[in-house]
Amino acid sequence: MPDLRRTTPASRATGGGHDTPPPPPRQRVWPLLVAALSVALLALCVRLLWLRTGAAPRRIGVIAGHWQSDPGATCPDGLREIDITLPIARAVVERLKASGYEAEVLPEYSSRLHGYRGLALLSLHADSCVALTGFKVAGRGIGPSSAASARLADCLTRRYGAATGLPFHASTITPAMTSYHAFRKAAPGTPAAIVELGFLGADRRLLTAEQERVVQGIVEGLLEFLASTGRPARTP
Ligand SMILES: [Zn+2]
Repeated sequence: MPDLRRTTPASRATGGGHDTPPPPPRQRVWPLLVAALSVALLALCVRLLWLRTGAAPRRIGVIAGHWQSDPGATCPDGLREIDITLPIARAVVERLKASGYEAEVLPEYSSRLHGYRGLALLSLHADSCVALTGFKVAGRGIGPSSAASARLADCLTRRYGAATGLPFHASTITPAMTSYHAFRKAAPGTPAAIVELGFLGADRRLLTAEQERVVQGIVEGLLEFLASTGRPARTP
């Protein structure tokens, strides 16, 4: 009797019996490739999310009105707007740095304003040399940061008014403020505002001899806004 358990050449050729034949090498590589690609894609998404949220700079730009451009408004005795805006912008930036922010003074038409990204962008100006008193604030009214810019303007208005005692002079807000050039240049997500600190005429004493109150009002307004956005000061 022939031994029926012995495999025949035909059964060996098909792998024998009911065993599933192993997949050819190319079929085994595909799942590994798909898994590797999925991991790479996930890593890229996490990286992009981190760049959008976690790595946002604690940068604040303070434009010293007219700096490196022109003197701005000028009084008959020679007092110029730039003589007010530059020292105040520098003092504001020093106070913000002491509070843990990466603050910087920017010239009026800095090329860096194009696409400027930061927690806030603020421009400081002073009004003409006339017998009027008061300050005014305008926030960036266009784009996705318009709501945040309105909050920034609100914080600045309340704190600056309290620190200086100046009234809000709404009737002299001009298109040069509401359509300020830096509002069109900064990155869409950057909240921005422009402040007219007072008139070189009737507010001259405050703007020249009491600058500490001016600086205090601006800094307090900014800090209140930044705290409301979850980026509070890091004072040691
Ligand atoms: Zn100006």
